Amino acid sequence: MRQLLLLRRSLISVRFSSYSVSPQATISHDEPNSPAFAENVDITIAGGGLVGSAMALAFASSPVFKNHKIVLLESQSKLPQVSKNKPYSNRVFALNAQSISLFEKLGAWDLMKSIQSVIAFDQGHQSENNSLAYIVENDVIQSCLLERLKQFHVEPRLNSKVKHFEYEENSIRIKLQDEKINLRTRLLIAADGYQSSIREMARISTMQWDYNQFGIVATLQLADNMPDNVVAWQRFLPTGPIACLPLSNTHSSLVWTVPKSMHKEIMKLSDEQFVDAINKAFTSDTYKHSGVISITERIRSYWQQVIPASPTVLQYPPVIINVEPRSRAAFPLTLLNANQYVRPRLVLIGDSAHRIHPMAGQGVNMGFCDVLCLFNILEQAVRDGADFSSLIYLVDYERQRQLQCLTRLLSIDSLNRLYSTNFSPVVALRSIGLSFVNEFSPLKKFFEKQAASST
Ligand SMILES: Cc1cc2nc3c(=O)[nH]c(=O)nc-3n(C[C@H](O)[C@H](O)[C@H](O)COP(=O)(O)OP(=O)(O)OC[C@H]3O[C@@H](n4cnc5c(N)ncnc54)[C@H](O)[C@@H]3O)c2cc1C
Repeated sequence: MRQLLLLRRSLISVRFSSYSVSPQATISHDEPNSPAFAENVDITIAGGGLVGSAMALAFASSPVFKNHKIVLLESQSKLPQVSKNKPYSNRVFALNAQSISLFEKLGAWDLMKSIQSVIAFDQGHQSENNSLAYIVENDVIQSCLLERLKQFHVEPRLNSKVKHFEYEENSIRIKLQDEKINLRTRLLIAADGYQSSIREMARISTMQWDYNQFGIVATLQLADNMPDNVVAWQRFLPTGPIACLPLSNTHSSLVWTVPKSMHKEIMKLSDEQFVDAINKAFTSDTYKHSGVISITERIRSYWQQVIPASPTVLQYPPVIINVEPRSRAAFPLTLLNANQYVRPRLVLIGDSAHRIHPMAGQGVNMGFCDVLCLFNILEQAVRDGADFSSLIYLVDYERQRQLQCLTRLLSIDSLNRLYSTNFSPVVALRSIGLSFVNEFSPLKKFFEKQAASST
């Protein structure tokens, strides 16, 4: 109920938002010590994570923005780097077709493939290329984007945390934490993650709730050398989904959603106990409900009289024998959507605009969609000889992204709720629904396509 009220409030504020500048971020004269000198920049991207780095590369590599000064700010002192022999990192992503085509456009995809032998797995129909997803490590994506940026003479400015910004007549003045440099930028793009301080400074409200769940990630070692380890596994347990993404013949990556009350206990398990718990979560019959199974089986037999059964290949989840040292980590899970993605001269992208439950592996893919959408709009503006930082273009970005992101956030949220229960009627309904989808090929393809796209 509370969520419905929040959603209603959120939709109303999106609908009637006036894009005014917040009182905190208006022209301010209360900084007597601020140096008069400011470096002039066309576009400043704050946040050198995956989404911010891709955004910076999109502008830096575009001939249309050739004469524009692009700056990428990152608050941390270093960003991930990879070498060919480094062990797998614990953060990996299933990139969908749109993200891959963005990387191809940015000239980074070949570089990524040269560092890591990326595994492609089919999310949908074999013959349709756009249903293929590729598993790539966070560090590989990040270091390839930065490598490409270097080729266009853009280096992320490390230790550069945006501390404050204020509006000037035709620009935004940014003050950094170290207080040494001021930037005067025509456009500020916030890619500073889900706890975005820029969003806060702009007083942009959010719709958000805590899932009371944690996502536990780890790199897992498989029992056998499995050349056919190309299947992504996900099992829905009442405690939350557990997923395993293939990395190589010998390794897979874990994303395990657990209730907040359980996460500390799981993180404290010894490696052996942790491995046992994962194998059990993938295979145990504890959560099967005999009444539900019999109803589902009966209904399945009715369908088979009208719908020819699809040939089913029996496959089993891989057996895990070990967890890579220090690869276990836990992240709190929340849903968040900013009620506005833009303000004059300010745009939110990636997790600073929206944060989704990781069960469908959509988060970073949605961020890359923001990058593509914003870049296409601003590039067209420059081609038309217009001022790319004008609010007209920014609002166009918001119009395109808000509805798509909100729809995706809420549909994944509903799935998480549907699966996070042991209540028999719900379990029966969802089993029947799933069996129906599984048997009925056009529906199955429809859902698979939905999962493969993140727009
Ligand atoms: C457990 C888990 C599993 C996930 N699995 C998947 C998956 O399989 N597939 C998928 O698509 N997504 C997944 N996600 C989501 C994905 O991790 C995020 O969507 C993605 O990392 C967001 O990237 P970002 O660049 O927007 O933000 P971030 O990665 O948070 O980067 C923000 C950057 O901004 C910097 N910064 C912060 N404040 C400032 C400031 N004031 N000034 C300058 N710099 C600043 C930070 O240091 C950081 O480098 C998962 C998330 C979790 C928690």
